[in-house]
Amino acid sequence: MIKILLLISYVCENIFNFVLVKLNDTYVKKPLPENVRDVYDEEKYSKWINYRNDTKKFSAIQTLVSALITLILLIFNLHSKIFYLFNFNTVVNYILFILVFTIVSTIISIPFEYYQNFVIEEKYGFNKTTIKTFILDIIKSLVLGLIVSTILFLVVMFLFEKFGNLGILFTIIAVILFSLAINLLSMPLMRIFNKFTPLEEGELRDSLVNLCEKYNVKIKDIYVMDASRRTTRANAFCTGLVKKTVSLDDNLVNNYTVDEIVAVFAHEFGHAKYKHVLKSIWFSFFRIIILIVALGLILNIPQFCTEFGFNEVNYYFAFTVLTMISWPVSNLFNLVSNKISRTFEYQADGFAAKEGYGEALISALKRLSKDALTNLNPHPVVVKLEYSHPTLSERITAIRKISKTDGTQPNSEINNQTIDNEINIDSKEDNTQKEE
Ligand SMILES: [Zn+2]
Repeated sequence: MIKILLLISYVCENIFNFVLVKLNDTYVKKPLPENVRDVYDEEKYSKWINYRNDTKKFSAIQTLVSALITLILLIFNLHSKIFYLFNFNTVVNYILFILVFTIVSTIISIPFEYYQNFVIEEKYGFNKTTIKTFILDIIKSLVLGLIVSTILFLVVMFLFEKFGNLGILFTIIAVILFSLAINLLSMPLMRIFNKFTPLEEGELRDSLVNLCEKYNVKIKDIYVMDASRRTTRANAFCTGLVKKTVSLDDNLVNNYTVDEIVAVFAHEFGHAKYKHVLKSIWFSFFRIIILIVALGLILNIPQFCTEFGFNEVNYYFAFTVLTMISWPVSNLFNLVSNKISRTFEYQADGFAAKEGYGEALISALKRLSKDALTNLNPHPVVVKLEYSHPTLSERITAIRKISKTDGTQPNSEINNQTIDNEINIDSKEDNTQKEE
């Protein structure tokens, strides 16, 4: 019975996601909001439509393949069949099981990743990745992912085995500490994939340092990240719980005007000043607590595992069950966390606008959207569920309102049309959204 319910839940999740895509489609035909009509000219607009269609078709195929594989694994109890192939002690069996599943799923994903980068992104001029970087990225993420997930998994299993239901409490503490550690290690972890060089001396650095001194906000350093090794898109982000690190993509530093970059930095600086990273972490703790309590419940009902061919409770499979049944709750969490995130984005934009960078920020945001072929008219429901940043049109309206009531004069005249992470202009459907 549980097996049938789980399969139904999985199918419902896929239908739900399909409905969201269709909802977004209905908005493509609608006229663009007034304040973003100048972002795309006719040629760029038709390029955007083609890009959108290509990505949509591709991700539909990808979703279908992954759903079929998951359903086959579940219907034929393949998880348990693979698990019982190993005949060592429990810990070794689990490690081998995780290893096999992670490596196989990575191998299945490679053709999709390849097509996404070297066919679609290439066609629209976004791709800068070489085959070497592409392969190295896959290996690095695989190794890193395996280390992190195996350690976390073994700790959770040990705590539940040793302390029974009290294990829920210890697991919550362990996972929260673990997430804090990952947060503190975010820069060293990112350095595995990217090179960060301190922003060189000059007009730009002086303007940025002045802003920090004016508000007495301690910034560890301002870095330039070599994003151009992979893409033509530009982004920026602010990280760190106490001392902040701000990173600007080289695509931003090399191609945008000083005013635009300072405006983007002022936005990042707003996040640092209002301590957004620290504030948003509380909600992620709450999320962890709910998920671990749910995991505890699943572990107390052996049928979740036995109906899929296991002789007893299987910790790894319990995680799989958790991800499969928690999607309605996850969507609720996303609704709240994205709402919080969008509020923080408005605050960061507001800070930049009050500093007199409103028009420069609007100019930078428009250009970033244009260069990344961003969807300027997403469906409001999709925005609520999936967007950690307000839409471009919403941001412009809010920035203009603040600039007006504040009476600030634009810091510069720009007549040209022009990230945990940050000034993010990419919509979720582009699959490129970074987060703080
Ligand atoms: Zn932001």
